[in-house]
Amino acid sequence: LELPFQERLERQPWNKDFPLIRDSAKCIKCMRCIQICDKVQSLNIWDLEGTGARSTVNVSRGRKIEQSDCSLCGQCITHCPVGALRERDDTEKVWEAIADKKKVTVAQIAPAVRTAWGEALGLSREEATVGKIADALHKLGVDYVFDTSFSADLTIMEEGNEFLERFTKGETKVRPMFTSCCPGWIRFIKSQYPHLVPQLSTAKSPQQMFGAVMKTYFAESIGVDPENIFTVSIMPCVAKKGESNMELFYEEYAGHDTDVVLTTRELTRMIRSAHIPASSLEDREFDRLMKEYTGAGVIFGVTGGVMEAALRSAYYLVTGKNPDPNAFQAVRNDGKGVKSAEIQIGDAVVKAAVVSGLGNTRRLISQIERGEVHYDFVEVMACPGGCVGGGGQIIHDGEELAYERGQNLYFLDRNMPLRFSHENQDVLKLYADYMERPLSHKAHMLLHTDHNAWEMPKQDR
Ligand code: SF4
Repeated sequence: LELPFQERLERQPWNKDFPLIRDSAKCIKCMRCIQICDKVQSLNIWDLEGTGARSTVNVSRGRKIEQSDCSLCGQCITHCPVGALRERDDTEKVWEAIADKKKVTVAQIAPAVRTAWGEALGLSREEATVGKIADALHKLGVDYVFDTSFSADLTIMEEGNEFLERFTKGETKVRPMFTSCCPGWIRFIKSQYPHLVPQLSTAKSPQQMFGAVMKTYFAESIGVDPENIFTVSIMPCVAKKGESNMELFYEEYAGHDTDVVLTTRELTRMIRSAHIPASSLEDREFDRLMKEYTGAGVIFGVTGGVMEAALRSAYYLVTGKNPDPNAFQAVRNDGKGVKSAEIQIGDAVVKAAVVSGLGNTRRLISQIERGEVHYDFVEVMACPGGCVGGGGQIIHDGEELAYERGQNLYFLDRNMPLRFSHENQDVLKLYADYMERPLSHKAHMLLHTDHNAWEMPKQDR
């Protein structure tokens, strides 16, 4: 058959080392990436270029992607209907580490991954448990598997104490303290509001904290040289790939805290390519030493979850008593993107705000800067709905599943035996045996970072 039209696929050069990859030959110019980045995330990374038949999509203002202020939220990926946008494929690095006899591979699974991975493998929400992901990772050849909810609990111990310190010193009177667990948000504040960076919590993200703990405390306990520990994290996120690669997180003793980050999509691809039938997976327990996690850690994956978990423990730290674990539902997502509440803790009232999506964040920061609103503590997640709607999650064309997946995390929290981060026995043991106490010198060295120590590319506005 002779076709009268010639195939003319576009080939734009692209930096294949960048965590976000664009294949111009696949682009059908539907412009959804431009829309989501412009209207929802307010970053305008994409734009049309050229005219007539040569019109095409590319990075706006003639920039290269690595020179832009892309937050790496990955929302353009999850809204691309043809796969022209995707994450950098890092699965090969994990296969190589698994095959290397010298390496001990240690994986962590982020809270939001459990809400979505089953969607790609035909498992219902009830069937797609996190224990089955642990089983799948062991079957792929990973040596040790943990739940990032453990280091989410650890984050609460550090960030909750840091907040109380700043709050009682009156530092939040001028400007709020912002959470620091979302690297998409960190890239956004660094490029758009650099003067607010000192307001960020200094706590590393749970992913980076866990990596640091795996290569120190855990490596020592199993008697393995940290250089031979290969850390993999399974994340709903593209920004975490960028975060793990940063020089900032390259430690003298053991290389990068996290060696490789795989998205939920890459995980399910590995399971499929190893021909592991989803129906053969069984619930498997996490490994020793960092096995325990609480409901407070699990809700980190949904907008409002970090704040709610922090408030549960802050209440305990101030009053010496546990609150009702359901007492702080006022900060939960109701689909509007921004939520605020005044929370009574002892004699003090904490003004808390929770926001997800970067356009919503820009609006909230403008209000704070104009003095129209005042908050003590603000949680920001770059992806609409939080990590459950993350840029590394399973894609369903035309469907937004963040809300439903978030409800799944709240369900899991309700049914957990422990719902307070400060009751996580393995976290308490880590402090007793290794870190002394929250905000100790050692905790600062391993679990905190300096957000001022690096720069986003400068934008000429
Ligand atoms: Fe990553 Fe979650 Fe932030 Fe999205 S909201 S960029 S998935 S950490």
